[in-house]
Amino acid sequence: MESQKRHSGLIVASNRLPVALTRAEDGSYRIEPGSGGLVSALLPVLRDRGGTWVGWAGISGDVQNINALLEQATQQAGYQLKAVALTEDEQRKFYQGFSNEVIWPLFHDLQLLCDFDPSYWRVYQNVNRRYAEVLRQNSIDGDFIWVHDYHLINVALELRNLGAKVKTAFFLHTPFPPLDIFVKLPWRFQLLHALVEYDLIGFQTLRDQRNFIQCVRTLMKDVAVHGKGQMLTLRDSEREVHVGSFPIGIDFNAYVKRAASEEVTKRAADLRNMLPNRQLILGVDRLDYTKGIPQRLEAFRNALVRYPELHNRVTLIQVVVPSREDIPQYNDLKTRIERLVGEINGQFTQPGGWVPIHYVFRSLDTVDLLAYYRAAEIALVTPLKDGMNLVAKEYCACSIEEECVLILSEFAGAAAQLQRGALLVNPYDIEGVADTIHRAYTMGNTERRAAMRHLRRTIREQDIFWWVDSFLRAAIAKDLSAFPLPEDYVPRNDIGGMSL
Ligand code: UDP
Repeated sequence: MESQKRHSGLIVASNRLPVALTRAEDGSYRIEPGSGGLVSALLPVLRDRGGTWVGWAGISGDVQNINALLEQATQQAGYQLKAVALTEDEQRKFYQGFSNEVIWPLFHDLQLLCDFDPSYWRVYQNVNRRYAEVLRQNSIDGDFIWVHDYHLINVALELRNLGAKVKTAFFLHTPFPPLDIFVKLPWRFQLLHALVEYDLIGFQTLRDQRNFIQCVRTLMKDVAVHGKGQMLTLRDSEREVHVGSFPIGIDFNAYVKRAASEEVTKRAADLRNMLPNRQLILGVDRLDYTKGIPQRLEAFRNALVRYPELHNRVTLIQVVVPSREDIPQYNDLKTRIERLVGEINGQFTQPGGWVPIHYVFRSLDTVDLLAYYRAAEIALVTPLKDGMNLVAKEYCACSIEEECVLILSEFAGAAAQLQRGALLVNPYDIEGVADTIHRAYTMGNTERRAAMRHLRRTIREQDIFWWVDSFLRAAIAKDLSAFPLPEDYVPRNDIGGMSL
């Protein structure tokens, strides 16, 4: 019975498993549940229906030992976790190299930041083959394999090379770039051909879907595009590929519940008391050049120069979460941000009084993060380009009094869903963002509430469970998956996360 449950026909693959394995100094292992929307959305589905998740466990080591530990940890879970072994060199060239120094900058339109090192591509291919081998070993004909993100584009191709008769779907969490940027990639044909090996390809927004279709039309002359709007079909003489857009959501109810908890409420009140008589403006970003942090700081400086009435009346709290520090550009960015924060604070700080920017460089625990979300009147979310941007959605979910304002970049995927309610800005337009900061500051509560209510309704209705459901339903409708989602399936909101 147990093994049958684990072979439900659904297999998920992502770069990392939904758990993190660490080795202590005494050689013992610790397994910690993973966090994030994808984990909390997909694990309940796997737990209900059974299935397998394949990915890297977070450490290098003997894969049999790692799998034994994972097996033990998931004995009662109803699904299984299978590890892919990666050496440190593979991890460096596949993850840090090809994934994060080629695809990440290119797919965010920043081709000048790409390092097109040919050895990265070779290792990327090898590692994708390794993932495919583990998937092959853990699947049977007819299974449905759902692959996540830009680290694993080649997996469907490798599965077919291995002779697997499975159905495959891919979801890209990042943007997909326009044709004239995609063609800069030395392996543009290989990557595009690898993508159309999937039976279903999902993008965050219509913008990404359109960019992809334009690349297919231009670079793959033997493929015809059929249909209009949300779901398109690519056809050549042999097969069909379905292409759709599915904007990812958050676990809205879990955020609301946690934001309203006593500890978050208290911590938010403490924050407000420490910074009284002003509006708090919040930025929360991973350290990444796509997030537009220097441009945002310049816009804030511009607002302080042009609107002196903001002095003493606003404080920008900029949280930067350390990320990818082994990549040189990330360190340069950190230096640039810190120099700008120093300059702006030096320019405006009043001795013994107001400091315009509070800069936090560390990862926050959930209570602190949600307290910042609750305490801030204005969120400044201005990425230069972003697949979705979950911070924008989390901020609105936590705005339980509905008296806050979201300033959002036009180039975040979230702008497609949140354009009604958010103040949209072009993050490159320093004066435009500065004017919008001033506008948000002066916005009355009635207008704020009307806008925030719209935003929260959209985020609540199109949450992470809606997203999983729409993707799986699209797969079932196209006959890709016999995965048993009954007609009356109601996405379940499993706030507790995983139970290992
Ligand atoms: N986040 C986090 N630790 C922090 C601050 C934020 O884990 O200290 C989370 C945040 O809650 C959000 C994610 O990091 O879920 C950032 O997602 P987003 O889509 O905004 O950007 P990404 O980092 O994926 O590019």
